[in-house]
Amino acid sequence: MRRKLVVGNWKMYGGLVANQALLQDVLNGVSELVKADYAVCVPFPYLSQAQTLLAGSNLAWGAQNLSTQQEGAYTGEVAAGMLTDFGCTVVIIGHSERRGLFHESNEITAEKFEAAQKAGLKPIFCVGETLAERESGVTEQVVAGQLDAVLVRFGATVLKNAVVAYEPVWAIGTGKTASADQAQAVHAFIRQRVAGYDAGVAQNLCILYGGSVKPGNAVELFSMPDIDGGLIGGASLVANDFVAICKAAQ
Ligand code: PEP
Repeated sequence: MRRKLVVGNWKMYGGLVANQALLQDVLNGVSELVKADYAVCVPFPYLSQAQTLLAGSNLAWGAQNLSTQQEGAYTGEVAAGMLTDFGCTVVIIGHSERRGLFHESNEITAEKFEAAQKAGLKPIFCVGETLAERESGVTEQVVAGQLDAVLVRFGATVLKNAVVAYEPVWAIGTGKTASADQAQAVHAFIRQRVAGYDAGVAQNLCILYGGSVKPGNAVELFSMPDIDGGLIGGASLVANDFVAICKAAQ
């Protein structure tokens, strides 16, 4: 039986004062929820604040990106070991905003995946198609290519300690959610694709849905057989909404 997981992606939002209230309110809301797992991925400068407020709680924390490199003359980069120094356990890899706005290729994404796991971090590995790709009927091809960047290079066993997030690009931050059936179809495809490499790994793999998840659609999405929780952007910045989504995973 797979446990459900809900992860907040704050993107580049927040500030010391606002974070304090948001984290405290979310913590109060999820502290009694023991049937699922929860995490927030905050901007780098606030990792220390998250660590101070969340240590010992059932709300884990992590980052939204990391360097492919362990250390060196890479101005502006942040290494995996620096994230574990601040108690991170998870890191988002290959978010469509990284792929699209910062030109991260499948190759770079795979290197980041490896860097995360080498440091003991669990990658939340994002895949998903654009609207144009969906409309031209190549959703499965695109998602398969993104998955294979990791599967072909490292094999399926690396997914024992990773999470996959299916995030259709057209649904991120747009208010346009994939229907539960549309999302389920791609989740089932992902599980089947991984099963082609290793059926046991596929069976246990946690696959999150991300893309305009809100309190009003979370229950339906999370009740689909291959949807194991959510990666939540906008709604993770509103404590009541995020807590409601966390409750939907119970
Ligand atoms: C995201 O940033 O991963 C995301 C799913 O955003 P939103 O929930 O705002 O669509």
